Amino acid sequence: MHQPGLMMNRPLLISGVLSHGASQFAEQEIVSRETHGPLHRYTFGQMAQRAAQLAHALRGLGLRPGSMVGSIAWNNHRHLEAYYAVSGSGMVMHTCNPRLHPDQLAYIINHAEDEVVCFDATFAPLVRELAPRCPTVKAWICLTDAANQVAIEGGPGVLVYEDLIAPHSTEFDWPVLDETAGAALCYTSGTTGHPKGVLYSHRALVLNATTACLPAVLCLSPQEAVLPVVPMFHINGWCIPYAALISGAKLVLPGPKLDAPSLYGLMEAERVTVGGAVPTIWLGVAQHLEQLGAGLSSLKRICVGGTAMPEALIAKYQERYGVEVRHGWGMTETTAIATLSALGPQDLKRPPQERYALLAKQGKPLPGIEIQVVDERGHPLPKDGTSQGELMVRGAWIVERYYKADRSALVDGWFPTGDIATIDASGVLTIRDRVKDVIKSGGEWISSIDLESAAMAHPAVAMAAVIGIPHPKWDERPLLFIVRKPQHTLEKQEVLDFLHTRVAKWWVPDDVRFVDALPVGGTGKVQKNVLRQWYATGEPQAA
Ligand code: AMP
Repeated sequence: MHQPGLMMNRPLLISGVLSHGASQFAEQEIVSRETHGPLHRYTFGQMAQRAAQLAHALRGLGLRPGSMVGSIAWNNHRHLEAYYAVSGSGMVMHTCNPRLHPDQLAYIINHAEDEVVCFDATFAPLVRELAPRCPTVKAWICLTDAANQVAIEGGPGVLVYEDLIAPHSTEFDWPVLDETAGAALCYTSGTTGHPKGVLYSHRALVLNATTACLPAVLCLSPQEAVLPVVPMFHINGWCIPYAALISGAKLVLPGPKLDAPSLYGLMEAERVTVGGAVPTIWLGVAQHLEQLGAGLSSLKRICVGGTAMPEALIAKYQERYGVEVRHGWGMTETTAIATLSALGPQDLKRPPQERYALLAKQGKPLPGIEIQVVDERGHPLPKDGTSQGELMVRGAWIVERYYKADRSALVDGWFPTGDIATIDASGVLTIRDRVKDVIKSGGEWISSIDLESAAMAHPAVAMAAVIGIPHPKWDERPLLFIVRKPQHTLEKQEVLDFLHTRVAKWWVPDDVRFVDALPVGGTGKVQKNVLRQWYATGEPQAA
């Protein structure tokens, strides 16, 4: 017979995270790069007071529980206050990716029916373009003070954040909500079709953020200082803005300065111990360190994801800088990280190269998450490390349906990810490709991720990306784009000879194109649709 548990039924809420951080770690620091340059410094306690002021101000603007509040903003302290004020008071924080095309931005603001949008001064030109197209938005709030405010000529009236919150009380009676209520909203990047909204519940965010603090994940505690470079406008900044308050870790926010010298300076000055960013950011930092001949004096571990982390870069961070890499997989639909690379007790005894190869895989599901791969008919495939099919995921922080969709997105209770993957006997996931990027050559599949990782191991290669191009006999063949490292020479034949030693013969691309830079989108991924256009048009000219 079903025996109900006899525990209190207290909801998991974002306001609970705020109250915990502010009361248990009141003096812990938040350091944030302001959009106009200087560093801003205050405590968890002060942040909570200002979040309360903002919650009052939003009420004053007529917003109520369930109202949508957009943001077009960097990772900074005012954006953080909005995270807590909006969700904490029962409204929904809709973070917008400023690098989406303005048509897509207008689409998502209208689709979400945002009533207020908070923006950083950097994005004033964008707001001017968007305002006439977004009739539901009744107030645009610039995340700044009077001294640094921007007037948008010919644009909408703009409220100045500091002036708006100043008159209000620093205490707010946070409502007790249903933990399954929507707290945050983020749209998929949508390279094809309209972006789709994912509405995160309080419960999903709190569970993911709590899990992120575990020793085997980010290992956060009051002794750590964590730097989320990963944007707060995309999948909740991997929930690090919440995890910091849960664990008491110092929070360092980089603002708009995402170049390697600025990040390096910030990490050293603020004694950052844990960082979270996509591989391209860590690649840039490593190149900068090489130029300086410098090391990292405080950083202990980095969490990477969004695209595959090349094995060579994992090795470099460990061997040269003593920094451990934890490689995660997740997507907009999974709130934040869903799987993470892990070394078991036996793995620690393996030679370094084998350990790096293992860390280059996407690891094991976090507690509360399950994964499987299925064939084209939806039948589960064996977990043998070689049977590849579509990755399916389910768990406590996985989407069930898209925002305003009338149908569930699930297939037999699982979310189909659109990623091609294998899972081995010990449960370790390897992402081989996106369904739309995998190269089908002569009836077999070539993994663009594996090819890219192999090319990245060449010492003269800064970045590599592979697309499939039509072929009369084989259907598709791989085409490799390469960005050389500065002051390095590299010719096509050298690349092909190198790849011959690392991948199956039939995987070696027929052609290599050298370019000055790869097109990277706002979430740190190489835009393969742009590479396909380059292939079709012959642009850009070879570097
Ligand atoms: P997004 O929803 O924009 O965050 O994109 C999610 C997609 O990024 C996933 O479906 C994967 O294709 C890709 N992705 C995320 N993390 C990784 C990773 N560690 N390795 C390879 N691909 C990844």
